[in-house]
Amino acid sequence: MSKFLSKRLQNLEPYTPGEQPQDQQYIKLNTNENPYPPSPWAAEAINAAAVNQLRLYSDPTCEKLLQAIATRYELQPEQVMPGNGSDENLFFALRAFCDEDTPLAYADVTYGCYKVWAGLLHIPSHVIPLEKDFSLDPKKYYSLGGETIVIANPNAPTGMALPAAEIEKIVQANAGGVVIVDEAYVDFGGESCVPLIKKYPNLLVVQTFSKSRSLAGARLGFAMGSAELIADLNRVKFSLNPYNINRLTLLAGETAMRDEDYFRRTCGIVAATRETTAQELAKRGFAVLPSKANFVFARTDKMAGGALYAALKEKGILVRHFDAPRIADWLRISIGKPEDMHKLMEALDAILENASRANAAQPTD
Ligand SMILES: *Cc1c(COP(=O)(O)O)cnc(C)c1O
Repeated sequence: MSKFLSKRLQNLEPYTPGEQPQDQQYIKLNTNENPYPPSPWAAEAINAAAVNQLRLYSDPTCEKLLQAIATRYELQPEQVMPGNGSDENLFFALRAFCDEDTPLAYADVTYGCYKVWAGLLHIPSHVIPLEKDFSLDPKKYYSLGGETIVIANPNAPTGMALPAAEIEKIVQANAGGVVIVDEAYVDFGGESCVPLIKKYPNLLVVQTFSKSRSLAGARLGFAMGSAELIADLNRVKFSLNPYNINRLTLLAGETAMRDEDYFRRTCGIVAATRETTAQELAKRGFAVLPSKANFVFARTDKMAGGALYAALKEKGILVRHFDAPRIADWLRISIGKPEDMHKLMEALDAILENASRANAAQPTD
């Protein structure tokens, strides 16, 4: 920290991303990436001609991409805003719809960036604890008096989802504030709130290409809402970085969005692998939360979360462990290919067997 850093930022605790080792020696189940490649249409679109075009700025309006998204979600292009990752969409939304007098309401156990951005932007946080079983009680979000609300649905890192009808009641009860629904994982089995956009001018839905369309490294997300809300977001974008999406990403995104068959097929495989993974973990005595995402959140009585994370890493398998209140004994395990999950189970069997032998060997008095 230099002596020049603004005092307001000195207590800021930045988000810690999951480990991104730059070699391939790990089975990577720690940052919810898709194990399957992006649509082959995206690879085709990013060709030598496209690379040559990199000398020119990208389209600041992202016209073709917005058209593809609008067609897919039955919206007008004016109801969509692209982002450099949905992280940027969410950040722009907080910049646009929160301030010192308009707090941000969110759950205690949810995506860690909400808290970080609120800190960076000097936005007061209104933290609403999840229930004991990590479910979200919608009633606790009724009538928050104009606060901005953000709900990840399905939630991270739990994977648990609310029906769209329950979110709708929250949107209805908060007509005086914006409700942001972060649908980063919705394509793996959640129920989207996009169809509600035409009924509610205070609803903003944010999605990403990172998970269900296998484009995490391209950095592409999109916000959807009334044309008025989207105009507000564009006000922020054009005040910061008009060319926020690069040319190659625009091409990859537009083509991947049009490849509906590939999208459905790969999401279906991931969802099916999630179900067998949850069953295999349960067989081994794990508690597993009901997930609609491309990861499961699980714990065992046999070993502490941090120790199990370290033992798996030792065996070449990366999962995510959060050293945070309520969830320190849980691991978030991304869904890989079936063969990755098979290796995970073999590793868990070896680790837990070892742990129980070590326990048995201990003197009992
Ligand atoms: C992964 C994730 C995002 C952001 O993803 P981008 O790669 O920035 O699009 C947003 N919200 C949640 C809950 C996520 O898990």
